[in-house]
Amino acid sequence: LKYKGFALIVGVTGIVGNSLAEILPLHDTPGGPWKVYGVARRPRPPWNADYPMEYIQCDIREEEQTLKQLSNLQDLTHVFYVTWANCSNEQQNCEINGQMFKNVLNAVIPNCPNLQHICLQTGRNHYIGPFDDWGTLNAVQDAPFCEDLPRIENPNFYYTLEDILIKEVTKKEGLTWSVHRPGVIFGFSPCSMMNIVGSLCVYAAICGHEGEPLRFPGTRQAWESYHSASDADLIAEHHIWATVDEYAKNEAFNISNGDVFKWKHFWKVLAEQFGVENGGLQEEGERRSLSDMMKDKGAVWDAIVSEKELLPTKLEEVGGWWFVDVVLGNEGMLDLMNKSKEHGFLGFRNSKSSFVSWIDKIKCSKIVPL
Ligand code: NDP
Repeated sequence: LKYKGFALIVGVTGIVGNSLAEILPLHDTPGGPWKVYGVARRPRPPWNADYPMEYIQCDIREEEQTLKQLSNLQDLTHVFYVTWANCSNEQQNCEINGQMFKNVLNAVIPNCPNLQHICLQTGRNHYIGPFDDWGTLNAVQDAPFCEDLPRIENPNFYYTLEDILIKEVTKKEGLTWSVHRPGVIFGFSPCSMMNIVGSLCVYAAICGHEGEPLRFPGTRQAWESYHSASDADLIAEHHIWATVDEYAKNEAFNISNGDVFKWKHFWKVLAEQFGVENGGLQEEGERRSLSDMMKDKGAVWDAIVSEKELLPTKLEEVGGWWFVDVVLGNEGMLDLMNKSKEHGFLGFRNSKSSFVSWIDKIKCSKIVPL
């Protein structure tokens, strides 16, 4: 097989990294046939063991290790940067995430003569600010968000990453870039720091095991407002589009499914998928956050994993409660897909089908019970 593209996926076991690792090697993927290298810190997990790719265990926070592990991948043509570090404040996020990204670029830009394009994934927090600022900023007034809105004042590690990217690509002639800004991602990955569908599946499975109704842990605003999601496979297609389409070069794009939904409708779907009673929205005084409800459930999860013969996981790996609490605690915020469409990307997803199909995949991969 003669490869045309040589891809490095940084964060290959993450929610979009996994979709890229599944889609890139397919025979009809644009820009292919692709040879795929994938980076993450943990050992290669069993659920991606049969993907046709070279798995590289490397901690990109470590400059020397990154240089050693990545600088010999001299055939690389494309980098897909789909990872991040979640630090305790945004100043640290800027420093650490900036350093990680630089470590990767310093290892590949000078050493890969055929390097053509770098895809950087950031997110809708570009417009809203970091999670700690959600709800306190006026940025929501500007929704639906379009790509050319001015930056907001607060520090934001997405700005740091964009600035590094635009500066570093100038070090190699002809090297191009693209930035991809999804909203809340629907996808598969038991190794993700923010996986709303996976976390909700784990919560629903625990409710089912304990015979409890599936209570919505969020606010009325979140329950009733319009939300939009970004399907992980669609985001992967958007990244791949940017590597092959001239009109996508050196631009930043939103990437979302192209429809809207309400959690009050999806909650019913979730309850049905797990055969549990829909507990619905809780009254203001009775509502408990998911982080609070799940804080002592580690042993319950271990019991479910063993009883149902699931792949071994720990509750803290598969239950990203803080993230679910943020998303379900706030009004939905919408973006626009006009720029992507005007530049030639016409992909979309039906969010309800996307929600159900990821639940199916999470069940079939034995992360949660059927
Ligand atoms: P995930 O948290 O799903 O995955 C992160 C991946 O990176 C994993 O493979 C992880 O594996 C790996 N990784 C983490 N740290 C390191 C390290 N130091 N060295 C090497 N590999 C590492 O990532 P996302 O796709 O969620 O995040 C990518 C971007 O998308 C981020 O900027 C995020 O904010 C943004 N985004 C995400 C959304 C979501 O819903 N998930 C929504 C909107 C934006 P391991 O831990 O084994 O190293």
